Amino acid sequence: MNFVTRFAPTPSGYLHLGHAFSAWTAWRAACDHDGRFLLRLEDIDTIRSKREFEPVMFDDLIWLGLDWEEPVRRQSDHFDEYAVVLERLKARGLLYRCFKTRSEILDEIARAPHGVGEVYRGPGAAMSADEEAARIAADEPYAWRLSLDRCRDHLGARFGAMRFVEEGASTVKGQGAREVVADPTPLGDVVLGRKDVGTSYHIAVVHDDALQGVSHVIRGEDLFELTPLHVLLQTLLGLPTPIYRHHRLLLDETGKRFAKRDQAATLQAMRESGETSEGLRSIFLR
Ligand code: GLU
Repeated sequence: MNFVTRFAPTPSGYLHLGHAFSAWTAWRAACDHDGRFLLRLEDIDTIRSKREFEPVMFDDLIWLGLDWEEPVRRQSDHFDEYAVVLERLKARGLLYRCFKTRSEILDEIARAPHGVGEVYRGPGAAMSADEEAARIAADEPYAWRLSLDRCRDHLGARFGAMRFVEEGASTVKGQGAREVVADPTPLGDVVLGRKDVGTSYHIAVVHDDALQGVSHVIRGEDLFELTPLHVLLQTLLGLPTPIYRHHRLLLDETGKRFAKRDQAATLQAMRESGETSEGLRSIFLR
């Protein structure tokens, strides 16, 4: 099998140690399998993402000893493709407009039975066509949510049969290759687009992984919980499901995840303080 993997950062800040670990883990796997390593800029959030971070990011990765294929795919150049994907799901009646504000949703969740978490379970009764038309005419903002009930009806037995192969050695999810049931139910009805934004991370990541022929998605275990939703989208869109390897997250000395706000942990700061890439690699192997 052709081994293709990728590192897909959001350029909304400088890369820190956590990113470096993720990039290096994917790159090393590609080297080990004589495979391909891609870099993809996930910058669909055009408010948070800034072009100025990109050259620094490239320098950081080169310093770390990584190389990747050109051209680098920049998601903000492909909004039209993601909009087509969203339209395909809409045309099949799998999405609905949700006019609720975040605070209305949080309020509903707070009143819902215990254990629901911050998950939107759907509108209960569908909004009448008249009310929907009136709210659209009033130019109210809305989100496009994927209806899990409609997905269940649409896929029938295939819904319960969804699986993915997890090969990650993450600390909380067990070890070694295993088949995982892809049940998106705990995630509720997720937002896949908004009135003016024809995409979301979920649409873009699933579309791009398939388009770029990614055979192995190697990423942090914080994204493990979202994988069933990605498998659902792949099933709905007739795309292959890659193999997943969710790796452990690198933690700082207080046991917390590195965040973009931790200035000292940025690769740029480490390079400037005389840290070597060999030094970093030895941290990753611990
Ligand atoms: N862009 C995502 C992030 O920066 C990573 C997405 C992925 O690897 O699937 O967290």
